Parts: sequence; C-alpha cells; structure tokens
Amino acid sequence: MHGDNGTKGVGTGLSGLLQAQQAAYAAEPYPSAEQRIDRLRRLLAVLESHESRIVEALSADFGYRSPHQTWFAEVVTTAKPLRLAISRLRHWMRPERRSPGLPFKLLGARAEVHYQPLGVVGVISPWNVPVNLAIAPLAGILAAGNRVMMKPSEATPATAALLQEMIASAFGPAELAVVTGGVEVGREFSALPFDHLLYTGGEVVAKHIMRAASEHLTPLTLELGGKSPTLIGEGADLALAARRIAFGKVFNAGQVCLAPDYVLVPNARKRELVDALIEAFKGMLPESSGSRDFVAAINERHAGRLRGYVQEARASGAEVIELEWTGRSELPGASMVPLTMVVEPAPSLALMREEIFGPLLPIVGYDCFEDALASINARPRPLALYYFGDDRRQVRELLTRTVSGGVTLNDVIMHYTMDDLPFGGVGASGMGAYHGRDGFRRFSHARAVYRQSRFDVGAMLRPPYGPRFERIA
Ligand code: NAD
Repeated sequence: MHGDNGTKGVGTGLSGLLQAQQAAYAAEPYPSAEQRIDRLRRLLAVLESHESRIVEALSADFGYRSPHQTWFAEVVTTAKPLRLAISRLRHWMRPERRSPGLPFKLLGARAEVHYQPLGVVGVISPWNVPVNLAIAPLAGILAAGNRVMMKPSEATPATAALLQEMIASAFGPAELAVVTGGVEVGREFSALPFDHLLYTGGEVVAKHIMRAASEHLTPLTLELGGKSPTLIGEGADLALAARRIAFGKVFNAGQVCLAPDYVLVPNARKRELVDALIEAFKGMLPESSGSRDFVAAINERHAGRLRGYVQEARASGAEVIELEWTGRSELPGASMVPLTMVVEPAPSLALMREEIFGPLLPIVGYDCFEDALASINARPRPLALYYFGDDRRQVRELLTRTVSGGVTLNDVIMHYTMDDLPFGGVGASGMGAYHGRDGFRRFSHARAVYRQSRFDVGAMLRPPYGPRFERIA
C-alpha cells in the first residue's frame, strides 16, 4: 500500500525528516495527476478503514464522545473534500489561459498561469476536531503535489498516536509523515524552513508561529478563531433560530472555531429568544440525568477557564441561566461544563473579551440594527458571522458593512461544509483560505508563464534609442 519514497534517506529528528522530504521533492518536483490521485485515494482508504478506531480514540481523548458525532465530524466531513479533490484534480491542474493584451495578443504571444507544487508543507493542527483539521487540508495540499509533515495537538494524545499509525501504514515518511509531541516539538517544528506552513489554532500560539516562520520567510496560512457573532433580525423566526444556534453550542460542547460565540437580539424579543433556546437545548439533550450526546471540555484547564467566565459573570450581577442537567453525565475523568446562558454580560467581562470555545452563550440585546452593526465592527474581525431573518435590506447592510471570514444566513457553521467555498479568516481570525479549488491554489505556486511571439515585439525597447523621444525629457 506504501507509495514511493519509503524510509530510504530519512535522517534523524525533524530536520532529517524535512531533508528527506526536500530530497524527494527535488527528485520529483511535479508529480503527475495519477500520482496525486493515488495519494488522495490512499488517504481516503486509510481514513475509512479506521472509522471505528477514530471513534475510540476521540472517546478516549474527550472522556466520551458520541460515535455519531465523531463519524460525522471526523470521517464524513473529511472524506468529502478528499473525494472532491480526486474528481476535480485534473481540471484544477490545467494551466489557465490569460489574455496577453494588445498588441501582443494579435502578434501571437501567449500568457498562462501554471500551478506548481510549493515543495514541503508543514501542518500544525488543534485538538477540537483533530482528525478533520489534520486531514481535510491535505485534500488541497496533496492535490497541489506537495510533501507534508504534520504535527497534531498533544491535547488529544490518543488521536495523535492513531493519526501517526494510520499515515505510516499508507505513506512513506518522505511523502507524508506525522510527528507527535507538545509545545517544545511545536516550537522546533514551526522553526523549520518549510515552503509553506499551515497552522490551525488560537491567536496566542499563532503569534509565536509567525515569529518563528519569519526567520525563513516561510509563507503562512493561519486558521484561527475569535468571537463569531450571531445577529437576530427583528422579524426572525425565533424557534428556528434557537434550534440552529443551540446546535452550534451543543455540537462538541461549543468547542468549534465556528461556534456562535454570542447572540445579538432585539431587546423586545430577548426573553422570547432565551425561552426558545431553553426549549431547543431540552429538545436536543432531553435526559434530565445528563445526556451522553453532550461532550466534556477537553481538559481541566479549559473547563477551569470556562467556569471562571461564569463565576465572573455571576459576580458582576449578570443573569446566569445554567442548564445544570447538561453537565451531569458522569464520565470518568471528564471535565463537564454545563450549557450556560448569560444575559446582558458587561462588555468588560472576560466572557465578552475572549473567544469562548465552550458551551456558554452570552445574549446581548440591541435597540436598533445600526447599534448591532456598530458593536460587531467595534471588535476584531471574526471567523464567521451569522444572521437570522429575511429582511433583504438588513442582509445587504450586513454583507457590505461588516467583514468576517465567512457568513451563514439563517443557520450557523454550515458554510464550512461547502467544499466549493473558500474557508478561512480575516484579520485576527486568520489569513489565507482553503477548501476545494481554493485549497489547491492556496498550496500551489501560481507561476506566470509568458510565451513570446515570433514577431520582434521587443525591438522598440532595445537601444540605441536615438533622438525620437528626446524632447519628452
Ligand atoms: P492547541 O493548544 O492544541 O495548539 C495547536 C497546536 O499548536 C498544537 O499542535 C500545539 O502543540 C502547537 N503549539 C502550542 N504552542 C506552540 C508554540 N509556542 N509554537 C509552535 N506550536 C505550538 O490549540 P488551541 O489553540 O487550543 O486551539 C483552539 C483554537 O483554535 C481556538 O481559538 C479555535 O477557534 C481555533 N480553531 C480554528 C480553526 C479554523 O479552522 N479556523 C479550527 C479549529 C480551531
């Protein structure tokens, strides 16, 4: 099942591995479509043949995670972009004709863009959806003909070990390799002279990575997070909005970069929304003794951070509605944090300054749409922005007067599942986007290729220039 470039020539340590990948790339700088498709197929096969092991590993890392959620978030959502790349690859690889402009066009010159592999790409991935966020980007990276070194998060050690085993069973290390380890390995990894480095994670680590990458001018794609707002329009169907927002907080207990971070709702409808959200949460997690469909916080450190937000909100006098039954499930060693709504938290609270990344939902009222837009624009540019309602004027205002990585109207998170839409952040939520053809292009070098015509179009540029234009000087 192994591809080319087995272990031959692999030195020791991270630099040795990188050198082996660089040598393999130099020996084969432009893999054929067949070779790339073979790599994508091997990756898809190894993903699908490890379904049950993936479910087990995620459960080990989270205390327990529903097989249904893991199957959907880690397997289905990861297989889809790989399949798309396999079917579209030949089309993506085709050189793109551009117009050389007049007079060159008439004289028979040609201009094209050729998409070339970058070389060796490094991938540092997070713990929250650890299989998907490690493997889905490979659809674009491998389609573009690159070699890859990956470092999954140490916060999900069982999944990291499984990823390493899975990849080693199907790929030679000079082709695609997984290295495991914590922050120290992360530091060493991000200092390597990759041809491109993709980092998915939080803003604080992203700054370390950017500093390390600057040493070699390594180009970066940063997939970060932030506080993604959900704006409820005046005429919105609140029962529908509540069901969809609630899903965004129940899914992985809100530990999703695209989770709705906080809700802005017209003051006149605030109470109605809170009641509709309680109903929606009950509908999804009906067991009053605690539902196994609700996952724990990844570890005590994150649970403590989330509990701290709630404590501070309570002390400030904000209304805190804790749905304590959602955190009741007695999973051995799991750090349960219940779903909690905080109504009208002060903007100065940590809950309203930091990305929540957990099952807490601040509800903030607004008097007029202008104020809501202003409060969104007063914060760093978010990864996602959500709007519920059908007011076309409001949608137009929202789309033209705010900036975010992506937008979903009348739902949350869903633009991520569109393989033909670029996925990425802007400003503090990241740089560079991938998915589908945008991923292929992100991890390729778009090389300008110009073919001169047989006519001597360059003659007028060559000296001797003579006196013709001297009067211009
Ligand atoms: P994390 O703490 O697991 O860190 C991610 C990776 O960075 C790990 O592999 C870790 O070892 C490495 N790392 C840590 N310190 C490092 C250093 N100094 N130098 C180099 N590497 C280092 O992940 P996290 O930050 O807790 O992840 C959560 C964040 O990720 C949230 O902010 C979330 O919004 C964001 N996120 C974004 C996306 C997206 O696609 N945009 C997806 C998921 C998560």
